[in-house]
Amino acid sequence: MSSGPSKVSKGRPPSDVWCNHMIQGNMQSRGHYSATCSYCRQYWRQGRPQVLSAHLANHCKKCPDDVSLYFAKIVRKNLAKEEEESADEDESDYPNKRVRQTGIKNFYGGEKESNFTIALDGWTDPRGNSLWAFILLTPSRKEYLLQLEDLSKNSHTAEYLSKVINDIICKVGISKIVAIVSDNAANVAGARQLITNEYPSIINIRYIAHCINLISSDIVKVDQVKCLVKRANILTRYFKNSTLASTWLKEAIDAKNIAGPGQS
Ligand SMILES: [Zn+2]
Repeated sequence: MSSGPSKVSKGRPPSDVWCNHMIQGNMQSRGHYSATCSYCRQYWRQGRPQVLSAHLANHCKKCPDDVSLYFAKIVRKNLAKEEEESADEDESDYPNKRVRQTGIKNFYGGEKESNFTIALDGWTDPRGNSLWAFILLTPSRKEYLLQLEDLSKNSHTAEYLSKVINDIICKVGISKIVAIVSDNAANVAGARQLITNEYPSIINIRYIAHCINLISSDIVKVDQVKCLVKRANILTRYFKNSTLASTWLKEAIDAKNIAGPGQS
């Protein structure tokens, strides 16, 4: 939600992080100083404001909550600004110089692209903040982060979440969205239902990998399976801890033409 002119290009103003939050050290290169966090004393040889803000927003375990929330907002605003700038550049500055990643707004605003799925999930970060990610999935299986929100201040009822989702749907365009997918926590499932009631053209999908996750956690509670998993762990640990054994294993896999689902 950035407003006003956002054409601040190269010469950025001095950042807020230096006011009381970071101790500025010597200049290391043009415009870059070493930095020490005033709260936890973490040190950076080159204190880039984005990195320092991200530290205060997400990682510093000693800074007060209001400071970390303040910087969480700045980090989010900067992300939105970068997105806007990259969208502007796509339109004018780079006619055919080199292929640039399309700004996400340009991308979903384009006439050609549609049949998107919106995926959402929430989790709690180490500081106890409730973070929510909203992702746009394309038919060609590309994923774009639409919104990353700190929703700690609100109670996550189905009604509230459906309002947040609705805003996102309106931004992207209702006609471009075919499905919404999430895990099956009661509030999230409820929000999905409310959205599909409101927009019958959107398909309500329960995240299948979450079902597999739940099923497998039930399966490993069975005694026989517990024993099997224990033995499998002994084997994997052996090959992980021995470079010689793992080389031998790789050779054997190649020789036998064994193809797995992914890299292991
Ligand atoms: Zn710190």
